[in-house]
Amino acid sequence: MTSPPSGKTPDHARLDRVVADARRAREQREGGYRERALKIYPWICGRCAREFDRATVVQLTVHHRDHNHDNNPPDGSNWELLCVYCHDNEHQRQLEQAQGVAAGPVDKSAGAAAAAATHKPFADLAALLKRGK
Ligand SMILES: [Zn+2]
Ligand SMILES: [Zn+2]
Repeated sequence: MTSPPSGKTPDHARLDRVVADARRAREQREGGYRERALKIYPWICGRCAREFDRATVVQLTVHHRDHNHDNNPPDGSNWELLCVYCHDNEHQRQLEQAQGVAAGPVDKSAGAAAAAATHKPFADLAALLKRGK
């Protein structure tokens, strides 16, 4: 008869720590791209053209054009600076579009064409070629 190692609770504490670490890592990553985007782009909302300065820049957010927060190319091509209001609108619109697509009959060809237009099939190839050299 073998008894298990004492205590059942450590797993819980460990899970909490893992979650906290993941959140911190995510915040760091997001903070990183925000700073870079603010360095690359003028502090102007891409929708309403409102201008920002050091005091108001907290209201300027980084939008990901393809909505993939892990897609952060160093040239900033996936970023767009939007004020919090326009950013909200942008995502609201996407949400409604997504719901509309899910609910109604889908024009598959249009969706595929749009996806193909934003997805660059040769971007990876170019990187591979560069790396191989
Ligand atoms: Zn705006
Ligand atoms: Zn966004």
